[in-house]
Amino acid sequence: MDRRTGELAAALARELRGEVRADAYSRHLFASDASMYAREPLVVAFPRGADDVAAAIALAGRYEVPVVTRGAGTSLSGQGTGTGIVLDTSRHMDAIAEIDAEGLRARVGPGVVQEDLNRAAGRHGLAFGPDTSTANRATVGGMIGNNSSGSHSVVYGTTVDHVHELDVVLADGSRARFAPVDEAERLRRAAGDSLEAAIHRELPALVERHREAIARDYPPHWRAAGGYRLDRLADGPFDLARFVVGSEGTLVAITGATVRLVPLPKARLFGVGLFESVSDAIAGTDDALALGAAAVELMDRTILDLSRRKLEFRALADSLPGEPEALLFVTFFGDSVDAARAPLDRLEETWGRHGHGYEFIRAETPAEQEALTKVRQAGLGMLMASSRGARRPLAFVEDTAVAPERLGDYVARLTEILDRHGLTAGLYGHCSVGCLHVRPFVDLTEPGGIETMRAVAEEVVELVAEFGGVNSSEHGDGLVRSEFNGRIFGDELYAAFREVKRLFDPHGRLNPGVMVDAAPMTANLRDPALPAAPPPATTLSFAEHGGMRGAADRCQRIGACRKTATGVMCPSYMATREEEHSTRGRANALVHALSQPDPQAALGDERLHEILYLCLECKACKSECPLSVDMASLKSEFLAHYHEAHGVPLRSRAFGAIRTLNRLGAATAPLSNLAGRVGPLRGALGIARQRPLPRFRRDTLMRWDRRRPAPGGARGDVVFLADSFTSFTEPAIGRAAIELLDLAGYRVRLESAGCCGRASISKGLLERARAQADAMVARLAPEGERGVPIVGCEPSCLLTLREEHLALLPGDERAQAVARSTRLVEELLVEAIDDGALKLDPASAVSGRRIVLHGHCHQKALAGTAATVALLERIPGVEVVELDAGCCGMAGSFGFEAEHYELSMRIGELRLFPALRAEGAETLVAATGASCRQQIAHGVEREARHPVAIVRAAV
Ligand SMILES: Cc1cc2nc3c(=O)[nH]c(=O)nc-3n(C[C@H](O)[C@H](O)[C@H](O)COP(=O)(O)OP(=O)(O)OC[C@H]3O[C@@H](n4cnc5c(N)ncnc54)[C@H](O)[C@@H]3O)c2cc1C
Repeated sequence: MDRRTGELAAALARELRGEVRADAYSRHLFASDASMYAREPLVVAFPRGADDVAAAIALAGRYEVPVVTRGAGTSLSGQGTGTGIVLDTSRHMDAIAEIDAEGLRARVGPGVVQEDLNRAAGRHGLAFGPDTSTANRATVGGMIGNNSSGSHSVVYGTTVDHVHELDVVLADGSRARFAPVDEAERLRRAAGDSLEAAIHRELPALVERHREAIARDYPPHWRAAGGYRLDRLADGPFDLARFVVGSEGTLVAITGATVRLVPLPKARLFGVGLFESVSDAIAGTDDALALGAAAVELMDRTILDLSRRKLEFRALADSLPGEPEALLFVTFFGDSVDAARAPLDRLEETWGRHGHGYEFIRAETPAEQEALTKVRQAGLGMLMASSRGARRPLAFVEDTAVAPERLGDYVARLTEILDRHGLTAGLYGHCSVGCLHVRPFVDLTEPGGIETMRAVAEEVVELVAEFGGVNSSEHGDGLVRSEFNGRIFGDELYAAFREVKRLFDPHGRLNPGVMVDAAPMTANLRDPALPAAPPPATTLSFAEHGGMRGAADRCQRIGACRKTATGVMCPSYMATREEEHSTRGRANALVHALSQPDPQAALGDERLHEILYLCLECKACKSECPLSVDMASLKSEFLAHYHEAHGVPLRSRAFGAIRTLNRLGAATAPLSNLAGRVGPLRGALGIARQRPLPRFRRDTLMRWDRRRPAPGGARGDVVFLADSFTSFTEPAIGRAAIELLDLAGYRVRLESAGCCGRASISKGLLERARAQADAMVARLAPEGERGVPIVGCEPSCLLTLREEHLALLPGDERAQAVARSTRLVEELLVEAIDDGALKLDPASAVSGRRIVLHGHCHQKALAGTAATVALLERIPGVEVVELDAGCCGMAGSFGFEAEHYELSMRIGELRLFPALRAEGAETLVAATGASCRQQIAHGVEREARHPVAIVRAAV
């Protein structure tokens, strides 16, 4: 850091209440958004309020550096990046100060996430209308910055239609409130020599000077997110709040907003048309709009096929009849279900008559709607996920809109352009408003890649103009489109835009180079600027992604890991709300380290360790991130390198050798159970003093197995994995599973000779883990190769055979055979119950009960919980509810570690503990993971049982 930057950081730290970071990692983490660009800032600050924002902007003036205000950084055009100060409002400025249900208004901080606002407003039957696909992490400030909109824009318009009033900080650090004002008030505000006065004084004159061009030169399409919107000032009251919507942080920094709320539709139903071509699907749009559709959304085959690769969408995608080339999702709102169903019926009938589509599927139940909506909303993410190395689906012509009735012709012409340049692309978008998201796959690091991209972008600008459309309909200009604003809006309007910028921001402090005076779209590209670095040798194989950096660089920074209300990813972000504790933050940090001239040395960096330290290795990112970034594996590999530089801590050695410790503990129980209470011992190992330790059982699963009569079994052989945890501390679970398999007619062999390596992997002891994997694979290979099912009760151990063993032993055919034979014990038991081999008793103590299931994170990520739910549902009369409660916070040894204890409990308190506390005493709690059961017992003082133990009680 140079002296001046150091002084700036120190001044910010002195004057702001919020945190200030200027280390290389923080700067790298905030250098990019979800676009193809990167610009590294000097300093990142996390303001706690408007005073902090004002102080930061005043300092930016004093130090003559730019400043960019940002929310979740999910922008697709590069406008969320900047070279000076980045102000992240998402961390602390996310208050919902007021919901005025009667006045249909909410007062919020700019950092509030759309979905959080919707949850609060939803309690009053209200919502914030515009709904971006990123609603679960993108902020209201970012929506205002980009004039975002969503799939229901035909009903709700764009963000500008929902902004009443804005509290802002101006470019000189002064503060103002923007709202519609009458002429008298405008004149009052125009008096004096403040920047606010100058804006109120000079902007109307500017509009007058360009009135003709304003009327003539704005593209006619209403759904626009590009250029400064002088047309909003041309008529009606003088409303600076509306004017600055969509100005991408270049005119003001927003510190508070009063936004409009809309009543939630009482009913919403949708149908999905299946079509033989994209053009057929687009042709169906008119009928849908004529019937008053609230949304008409297109998804093409490329994206559908990609969805089949994701565990959570596969079944749904496979269940669609035929081989559709395109799907059209049509939504209707209504005051009742019948009112929403009527147009759906008519649409089905009309499409049938007009020959649009070969199949029509209805999504009427909330579950059907949610499932289909998830696939649709995940469209862009899945497209990104299909990247191979640096060949990515880039956002540079992805946001055009034309009149819906001309969309078919437009797509045909656009396809011609792409074909001519030899590019493929996935298509999806909002047909209701003619907005199409097209992301051609381009490798900018290859010779000619940048030139091709630019040529296509230029041709599309011309094509859009010919169709009277807009180049950006919701994603904004950013670094990708601002360069073309002169061409798009004409010389006079563009000159007026520059005057606007000079008026609001005379010294070019606020996000300069965006909207006007932009560098070429080919400047600041991220991928070509990534330095080549010699890849470090790794123990886990990342060959599929071209090495460890490639595996981290799968992250395309769309920020899906910043969601907080659903799923598991990312527990530490959910609890801390800090970018660096999200998967995106960690992936970015690893890319930074692995781009250093000596990546091996960089992997020993303390700051990198700090960033990766709170990763719980839950693996949720592997399944929930559309890009399947596997941070758990990356962290293990990182730890292995970090240990090389710093040595292996005693606690990691102890936890890594958990099987040996547990075996000793069980052999010396009950005495050994006292040892856990010895404070100094815990202290030496860094184990949280509040955390009860699992109790060792002398009668281990292995002892019991030795007493078990020789297995018979006509149903065939099964190997049961005696994992390193339950075998010594909860052997009753293994017993229950083996007894059930016995009863079902299986001949069960207990595999108990060693550890799968799970504990070593999580501690980064990868050489040891490889040896353990190799030994286990050698033992299991004969059965694996014969297709004998290998099952177990502890998902993290069992699924290590399916997952990490392949990365530890790349190319090993024995490991692959074992992985193929590895199944959840629940799957076998469901089959046995369904074919009558295993009978459950309707009069058992567990029959007829309500059961809530908390799935283990690794299971959710790698195998899914469907088989566990199905097994529990086989118990007569039960009601099974699977909790969407995220990670329990324990994550193996993580929650035992003294420095992680508080975070571990905080994660549990986010959703799981409250959900369990809300259950009556009669409800049975089921959890597949040993650590989850421990966390539940500790957190809410309830016994959680393994599902097989519950099913055993039903026999
Ligand atoms: C997978 C994916 C899907 C998307 N789908 C949609 C979609 O359906 N509809 C849509 O409209 N967009 C979509 N986007 C784009 C993006 O998510 C939205 O524009 C979103 O509203 C941006 O919010 P953010 O909090 O991430 O803003 P950021 O990216 O952080 O910022 C956006 C802009 O607003 C400015 N800004 C942020 N906060 C402030 C503030 N306090 N004061 C002044 N300026 C500020 C920034 O400087 C920047 O120019 C999508 C993006 C991705 C990656």
